[in-house]
Amino acid sequence: MNSSNTSRQLPHLLNADLHCHSTVSDGTLEPELVAARAKAGGVELWALTDHDEIGGLQRAREAALAEGLAYLTGCEISVSFAGVTVHIVGLGFDADDIALGEGLARTRGGREARAREMAAGLAKVGIHGAFEGSLPYAGNPDLISRTHFARFLVERGHCADLGDVFRRYLVEGKPGYVPHRWAALGDAVRWITAAGGVAVIAHPARYRFTATEEYALFSEFKAHGGRAVEVITGSHSAADAIRYAEVAREFELLASRGSDFHSPKESRIDLGTLPDLPGTLTPVWQVLGDRVQWPSSDGAPEHPAPRNEQRRPA
Ligand code: AMP
Ligand code: MN
Ligand code: MN
Ligand code: MN
Repeated sequence: MNSSNTSRQLPHLLNADLHCHSTVSDGTLEPELVAARAKAGGVELWALTDHDEIGGLQRAREAALAEGLAYLTGCEISVSFAGVTVHIVGLGFDADDIALGEGLARTRGGREARAREMAAGLAKVGIHGAFEGSLPYAGNPDLISRTHFARFLVERGHCADLGDVFRRYLVEGKPGYVPHRWAALGDAVRWITAAGGVAVIAHPARYRFTATEEYALFSEFKAHGGRAVEVITGSHSAADAIRYAEVAREFELLASRGSDFHSPKESRIDLGTLPDLPGTLTPVWQVLGDRVQWPSSDGAPEHPAPRNEQRRPA
């Protein structure tokens, strides 16, 4: 498939979905099926952002271009900040960058030991074999996550759904929770930016920070070179979106939009179905025009079609 990466200015109103997962981390669809679902959901600009792993990006790129989607590289890096896990999305980086690849490998490296500790904690409350039982859901011990444990526990009938597993077993204070030291904020932001990408604070409303800690997160993120924040995400309520639109303005950050889709059965928000970004913010894709991979003109649209302006605002 031919493609071009000629720089183009992208419009403000664009069905961009710049946060979602595949089987390469804790999603349930292969990268090709996520691309097809994005296309079916009306997405025009798409990035696959698996946790701490870019091994699915070649497949994602080929599938996106074959579907006629404009494509950006992506990943979601796990970071520890003030004792809380924060997720930093990277967009539009060079996927062959050595330092980024090494940083992601180090970040993933602790997952197996953590998962074995999680299983030991669950064994103490009578749930045995959780490591061995959850591993097949992940495929690779370097990628095993709480989501895979949650799927195993639902499958075994311990809980009704994923949310129930997290509440009862996998969050702080519960038997399967193990505190973990992820990447440092400054390292994650530098890996992304040094590889030519843009760093984005993912779903900020999900973190349980005090106002002072949140201010520190945004200030330090900017000081390290971070440039954007997710305002419209599947993890935000309408009130969260309003609040973080205000924070984006206060910190002069670009705004991003992404469903955080993981699975047809588990995810509340499907690819491409989110409200638009508020008109007063600058979309992150307006600085990523020269990082976008465009489908070739044979069979696929040259550029995203004009949007229906009647869509509901955020
Ligand atoms: P980990 O990186 O192993 O700590 O796992 C974090 C992942 O768990 C996130 O990326 C989400 O996909 C998932 N997750 C976190 N909280 C919940 C929840 N309450 N319900 C369902 N999935 C969750
Ligand atoms: Mn996840
Ligand atoms: Mn996340
Ligand atoms: Mn995510």
